[in-house]
Amino acid sequence: MKGQKYIFLKIVLLLPPPNFKDVTMTGKLTFTMIKPSAVAAGHAGDILAMIEKAGFRLVAMKLIHLSRHQAGLFYAEHNGKSFYEDLTRFMSSGPIIAAIIAKDDAVAEFRKLIGATDPAKAEKGTVRNLYGKSITENAVHGSDADATAEREGNFFFSSIENV
Ligand code: ADP
Ligand code: MG
Repeated sequence: MKGQKYIFLKIVLLLPPPNFKDVTMTGKLTFTMIKPSAVAAGHAGDILAMIEKAGFRLVAMKLIHLSRHQAGLFYAEHNGKSFYEDLTRFMSSGPIIAAIIAKDDAVAEFRKLIGATDPAKAEKGTVRNLYGKSITENAVHGSDADATAEREGNFFFSSIENV
């Protein structure tokens, strides 16, 4: 009996620790940024209020001024596209607010709240419709899939900042 218990304990200790978020939070988290133009215009508070009123809970948040290089790394998937240089110049032009937010079906629910990429095409009342100035300066970022949300959240936040 004693030996069995010891073996059981040894197996448990050898197992990798379960990642709490992986097990329970898939589909519930997304990542967002309030882009430089919206922060500079003083819309961060109103946009955060819209996010909270839509039922999202803040999980992690920081104000940060990205370097051009960091903006380029974040948007690496768009490297080579016509708008990449403008986008990385814009995203490093002033402070942004980066946040991880939680709600059921977070990625899809958040993209509904922010509207289409081009503010001119975003539905009335969406964040981009209200606060976007152009297709590049479209007020907010929202992840496009669960795996993207995880990668983007980890780009900005360490596990100790991620509550
Ligand atoms: P979304 O942010 O809606 O997921 P994308 O991932 O396609 O859109 O693009 C990333 C960001 O690049 C957009 O939010 C926008 O700021 C900028 N962008 C996208 N398409 C264009 C475009 N055709 N012209 C200028 N900027 C663009
Ligand atoms: Mg995108």
